[in-house]
Amino acid sequence: MEKSVFTRIMEGEIPGRFEYEDEQVIVIHDIAPKAPIHLLIIPRKPIPTLMDVTEEDLPLIGHIHVVAQKLAQKLGLKGFRLVNNCGKEGGQEVFHIHYHFLAGFQE
Ligand code: AMP
Repeated sequence: MEKSVFTRIMEGEIPGRFEYEDEQVIVIHDIAPKAPIHLLIIPRKPIPTLMDVTEEDLPLIGHIHVVAQKLAQKLGLKGFRLVNNCGKEGGQEVFHIHYHFLAGFQE
C-alpha cells in the first residue's frame, strides 16, 4: 500500500508541525485548521480506518485518549472535542487512522 501523507511526515519526508510524539503516536497541527486549536493524533501504525481496528489495537486506541488528556493539560485546556472521520462517507480523506483534537472554542 502507498505510504500515507502522515507516514511521510513521521519519516521526515515532508514537514509537519509537531506538538507531541512518543513510541505509539505523533501529534501534529492540522494544515487547514477548523478550530482555534486543531491537532491530529496519529498512530504510527498505519491502520486505514476505524473499521480496521482489531482487538490487538485496543491498547493503542486507549493510549490515544491518554494523549488527548496530556495535550489538554499541556495546553491548559478545560475541554476539547475528539473526532474520528471513518470512511469516505464519514468525511475521511486520509486513509491512515487519526483523531482530530479540536479546542479553543468560546466558552
Ligand atoms: P480526514 O478528513 O478526517 O481524513 O482529515 C484529514 C485531515 O488531514 C484534514 O483536516 C487535513 O487538513 C489534514 N491534512 C492533510 N494533509 C496534511 C498535512 N500535510 N499536514 C497536516 N495536516 C494535513
